[in-house]
Amino acid sequence: MIQKIKENIWQFIFTQFGSCAYLIKINKKSIIIDTGSEWNKYELIEDLKKLQIASSQIDILILTHNHPDHTGNINLFQNAKVYGSKKDFSNDFILNINNLNIPEFKIIETPGHSKGGICILYKDVLFSGDTIFHNGGIGRMDLQGGSETEMKESLNKLKEINYKILCPGHV
Ligand SMILES: [Zn+2]
Repeated sequence: MIQKIKENIWQFIFTQFGSCAYLIKINKKSIIIDTGSEWNKYELIEDLKKLQIASSQIDILILTHNHPDHTGNINLFQNAKVYGSKKDFSNDFILNINNLNIPEFKIIETPGHSKGGICILYKDVLFSGDTIFHNGGIGRMDLQGGSETEMKESLNKLKEINYKILCPGHV
């Protein structure tokens, strides 16, 4: 299911288990945040088709963290540069999020759910991965790399941020 968040932001919600994915268009660049799980592959392809975009046309893929329900379809985006935190992704294929060159995006490190969890602030929209959800929900801290202390610090960090629209990893 596609939900339009803003004139240049779309949210993909899948029927099978997997994270939400987001498409953002900035300056003729097509950016995806998270990919859902591998079970979401065909739905994601179909949704992109409805927006008249092929997965091969995606320029940049950003991963909020390294969990399979968010990273299951990386291989769909053959021409994209893929970015994530080096605290979550150690392989060379994933580029360091600190080197992402999109001035409109502010990257906020938010460990707690995983070591290398990040949120992305774009204008008044916060893409929060599995750090925070709607209605005060927060991510699990009992998985590998999770930490209650770090989550507390990350939540405090997010409280300082002025956003109007929350785009979480799960709805
Ligand atoms: Zn997760």
